[in-house]
Amino acid sequence: MHGLMMDYPLTLDRIVEHAARMFPHKRIRTRQPDGGMHDYTYADLCRRSRRLAAALAGLGVAPGDRVGTFAWNHHQHLEMYFGIPGAGAVCHTLNVRLFPGQLSYIVNHAEDRVVFIDATVLPLFERVAGDIDCVEHYVLVNAPRDVETKLPDVLHYEDLVDGAADDFEWRSTDERMAMGLCYTSGTTGDPKGALYSHRSMFLHTLGENQAMGLALTETDVVMPVVPQFHAMAWGLPYACTLAGADVVMPGPNLQPAALAELIETHGVTVAAGVPTIWNGLYHELKARPRDVSSIRSLVVGGSAMPRSLIEAYERDLGVDVLHAWGMTELSPLGTVCKLQRQHGGLSEAEKWDVKARQGTPLGGVELRIVGDDGAERPWDGETMGELQARGPWVIRSYFKREPTPESFTADGWFRTGDVGTMTLDGYLTITDRTKDLVRSGGEWISSVALEGALMAHAEVLEAAVIAVPDEKWGERPLAVVVRTEGSAVSEDELRAHLAESFAKFEIPDGFAFTDELPKTSVGKFDKKVLRSRHAEGSL
Ligand code: AMP
Repeated sequence: MHGLMMDYPLTLDRIVEHAARMFPHKRIRTRQPDGGMHDYTYADLCRRSRRLAAALAGLGVAPGDRVGTFAWNHHQHLEMYFGIPGAGAVCHTLNVRLFPGQLSYIVNHAEDRVVFIDATVLPLFERVAGDIDCVEHYVLVNAPRDVETKLPDVLHYEDLVDGAADDFEWRSTDERMAMGLCYTSGTTGDPKGALYSHRSMFLHTLGENQAMGLALTETDVVMPVVPQFHAMAWGLPYACTLAGADVVMPGPNLQPAALAELIETHGVTVAAGVPTIWNGLYHELKARPRDVSSIRSLVVGGSAMPRSLIEAYERDLGVDVLHAWGMTELSPLGTVCKLQRQHGGLSEAEKWDVKARQGTPLGGVELRIVGDDGAERPWDGETMGELQARGPWVIRSYFKREPTPESFTADGWFRTGDVGTMTLDGYLTITDRTKDLVRSGGEWISSVALEGALMAHAEVLEAAVIAVPDEKWGERPLAVVVRTEGSAVSEDELRAHLAESFAKFEIPDGFAFTDELPKTSVGKFDKKVLRSRHAEGSL
């Protein structure tokens, strides 16, 4: 129809070109494995991303081909985020913490033709290379020239980039081209891939930067601690580039002391990571204080951030916590928890109650709560149901799989597998994963709520609650607790602590104490491992 707007492709090359033009001098800093800092600009990022795209084309990578990355967060990995899609190919991030069998499965399933590998994790990849049959070129990043490796005919990243032309034309010509691929951690069955398009990621970037989202601007200094192999580092590489924010990349060292030093030295204003990372940082800062007053938002997601930790950050350290919820299948950002004008009169404690929720949906994401009967449940802050999502950056089917009714509804919604409630004003609370919920008698008990309450106890460092089979009730909750150093807090004391805020039937029957909780490859409590430990009687 005449009079409509331009058909302007929403491709990611436009984002890096925008940064090169508008913010050519803004900085991207990376902590190197030896502790030194690499430092360059968005102009450098754009130029080298283009060269990388040219080099990939030179290797015979064609539009639609998958290219793997096996790397920590650093400037070269950022170049891959733009250079691979800029060659028309798909940037497939590989989690360096996967078990060998999962890693080879994913590479073969994606049919990666080229894989970039950090020298620091080369031995992890060498273990599986014999089981991989699709890769034609391995490219080592930051490896010494005389590196010894079992991989055949390796190339070196800097050679590739140095030898490529500056005048390559981006091959991302259509916004519906695929640009990224990320497999979910797959707690049951084989891992499943979420395939992002230029359009979906471009819109996600705009969505993430909206005022009720992360609202990054050129004044920010952003540190993505969340790995680039975990749900595209939550989209931060693209959101930072569009905003022209300075970036601090932590490289392979994610120890709390190293992160604290980066925040202080570089004046980080926004840092993003999972709760276990921020729990570690909190204890580090209490033991060895550093100036972290530059932080305006400590972004946390991936698991529920315990309310007690939100309170501790804000009360003890003056650091504002921003709770977010998302999933690999949502590119990944779905909700962000910001206070609204209506919360102005609340006390501090009431504000922390709100901030412990997962927040309101970004403009662009639609959510609904659905019961077992498939009917929508009310937004009353109490009624639990399965959370379903739809929107331009929500997947429609998994990569190379037909959509199944377990994951997608007939009327076009994605079934998240999360259980939650919605308040009348649209604040989401995640109460569980469907498979982690404790079904006791006719009641649902939220393991997440119990964990949050247990971790609010001063002598509890970490706590996970799992459902264990029970003859009378079907399932009952069991709490697995890590005490703080030197603590001997007892089961009875914890029971009494929970009795202050939970009904009697919700309080775990059993408590097990352990030195450390098992974690998944992306830093969540691994309840599958806990359940099997319980089944074999080793808890
Ligand atoms: P992943 O795809 O690995 O990022 O995992 C997504 C899942 O992590 C979601 O389906 C939730 O179960 C969980 N999750 C993510 N963010 C939160 C949050 N803020 N609170 C509770 N659970 C979360």
